[in-house]
Amino acid sequence: MTLRQKVRLSVLYLIFLTFPITLNYFSVYLIIESSAQGIAAFTLFFWGAFTLTSLVFGRAACGYICPLGAIQETKDRMVPKKLTQIKYLRIIKYFFAVAWVGAVAFAAISAGGYKKIELLYKTPSGVSVDSVMSWFTYFTIVIVVLLPAFLIGKRGFCHYFCPWGVLNMVGTKIKDALRWNSLHLKVAPENCKQCKTCDKNCPMSLPISQMVLTDSMRHNECILCGTCADTCPNGTIRYSWGRPQKS
Ligand code: SF4
Ligand code: SF4
Repeated sequence: MTLRQKVRLSVLYLIFLTFPITLNYFSVYLIIESSAQGIAAFTLFFWGAFTLTSLVFGRAACGYICPLGAIQETKDRMVPKKLTQIKYLRIIKYFFAVAWVGAVAFAAISAGGYKKIELLYKTPSGVSVDSVMSWFTYFTIVIVVLLPAFLIGKRGFCHYFCPWGVLNMVGTKIKDALRWNSLHLKVAPENCKQCKTCDKNCPMSLPISQMVLTDSMRHNECILCGTCADTCPNGTIRYSWGRPQKS
């Protein structure tokens, strides 16, 4: 395993292990509740920054620092299951994305905008899970995220239900359309031996060997984790920094 993948997985495992402490800092509910009181909580800054990174790094935040991705990849490494493609199920995540962004915006506007910053909103001790009720919330979230990964396959929650992945898709589309310098994948198709090692290792179960053949590495579901680049035995795929090709 390359150093880059060791670092990536170590960060994800650490995020997973510390999730009972950090849960509120990523809370998708507290962001709405605090916004409704005109309070900017840490979770607002986290998800704002998470989305903004996509304007330069595509969906890399999904691959490197997302707590929900961390939960799934920890499971996928222990109990791998190929993704089952389910036509039209993805619609759900687009619906969730619109509903969630709409709820945050509506809450903030109703409160007359943000009037104060409270990074430790509803987390006075700094530790998120500190009561029976918060343990219940924690396990509910973990189960909701893990169930699709067990039933549908690798990163099943990302594929079909995650609204934050959708926000990063939108950011990626914007950066690719405006063609400013950014992170993407580059391939040398002539090096590919069609061994399909990349297909097997991709945490998002993407048909990479086919994408390589057509020299089209842009895929809505690519989280730019770099696993394909790091596991290809023939050096076919690499990270590239610069202006993306015209689509
Ligand atoms: S791992 Fe490399 S050589 Fe093998 S199919 Fe994928 S891109 Fe081609
Ligand atoms: S295509 Fe490569 S970079 Fe994208 S998700 Fe799959 S393994 Fe990661």
